[in-house]
Amino acid sequence: MLNRRSMLGMGGSGAIAAAAGIFGGAGQAAEQRYAHAVRGLPRLKITRVKTILTQPDTARLAVVKVETSEPGLYGLGCATFTQRAQAVAVAVDRFLAEFAQDRDPDNIEDLWQTAYTSSYWRNGPVLNNALSGLDMALWDIKGKRAGMPVYQLLGGKCRFAVDTYARAGADDLETVQELVQGFIADGFRHVRIQLGGYGGAKTAGQADFHRAGFGLPDDQHMPVSAYLKAVPRMFEQVRKTCGDDVELLHDIHERISPRDAIGLVKELEVYRPFFIEDPFPPEPNKGYFEQLRRATTVPIAMGELFNNPHEWSDLITERLIDYIRVHISQIGGLTPARKLAVLAEHFGVKTAWHGPPDVSPVGHAANAHLDLAIPNFGIQEMSFLNQATLDVFPGSPTIRNGYMFVSETPGFGVDVDEKLAARFPISESANNWLPLRRSDGSAVRP
Ligand code: MG
Repeated sequence: MLNRRSMLGMGGSGAIAAAAGIFGGAGQAAEQRYAHAVRGLPRLKITRVKTILTQPDTARLAVVKVETSEPGLYGLGCATFTQRAQAVAVAVDRFLAEFAQDRDPDNIEDLWQTAYTSSYWRNGPVLNNALSGLDMALWDIKGKRAGMPVYQLLGGKCRFAVDTYARAGADDLETVQELVQGFIADGFRHVRIQLGGYGGAKTAGQADFHRAGFGLPDDQHMPVSAYLKAVPRMFEQVRKTCGDDVELLHDIHERISPRDAIGLVKELEVYRPFFIEDPFPPEPNKGYFEQLRRATTVPIAMGELFNNPHEWSDLITERLIDYIRVHISQIGGLTPARKLAVLAEHFGVKTAWHGPPDVSPVGHAANAHLDLAIPNFGIQEMSFLNQATLDVFPGSPTIRNGYMFVSETPGFGVDVDEKLAARFPISESANNWLPLRRSDGSAVRP
């Protein structure tokens, strides 16, 4: 490597001056071209930030639109937190909008850093969703200004498309098998298999707490032992009927005890899962991750409930997980997500960003643009978009043969038809996550 002394040795101060002249000349020429192009134009400013709430399918989607002083130049970001959609809209429209007003949309990192602390308290849901929407919209604007898809700004493609997994979930084993076979026929190489809905809650009927009148009749029952027996049977059956080639994934949804989770993951090892997701709740469980590591080589995915670096840093740097799968519309947007991807790359951890129906098409596109550009991409969760969603969001990513493709237009490539979005108003229900209980009524925490 050249240092100052060896450069001096090579040619003396004249060589340095000549080199400086070459670079200085090129820089000056570019500067002059830029100054000429923008002569007389006022500095680009953010003129408006607003939330668009819409529900063209099951989830309440929140998309942030950032308008600029350049006519027609705007960006879109995903801020979706379907359970608290209106709260996110208040965080954006009442607070973040005023903060961002008149600021320079080109300075994404500066805007992220200053918006992050604009509420003093930070790092939680709602405010982080709002920040995600603003941040992604700025990247969308940057791409449009550069005339490039966002993945180009991140370094260009590492792969031709984004490999995804589909979700096969049903209340009975036959339907799960049929769904897996259907996905294989459609070209998918990876399928997540679930029995009995989220966390296997529907594998039992009325519980003792229902009969005793504890809680409310709609509160769900989580029969732990039935779930622990059903999952290995499901893997055995799906391997038998769907073959060895398809990669199988499963999400424990954090609903069993750490000891039961370690036992279950060990038991599934023989079926070679691609990964098992969320074995433990997001509250600190590092000691159990260490025990799980010692017990089995099954790859572990974790993190969809994470909000900030305090939650994922140790799991990555101590190599306790194999896949990090945060909700990018929850952690503050593309800016922290690309840093997280780089951190993970250094420790051999791959990505598997959260991509269920409660991510807007803008959010799916942000996932995919990052996936395209990072070497440690692992797999992407995908969702099928209904026709209404595709109509509201022209340019949404598409799925072919199990791969996700992004629109190649500048930015994230996704637009929104605001008039049409307004024809799908969000449900005003509070959308609370119903309690899940053990047989005696005690609460189970996801
Ligand atoms: Mg999950």
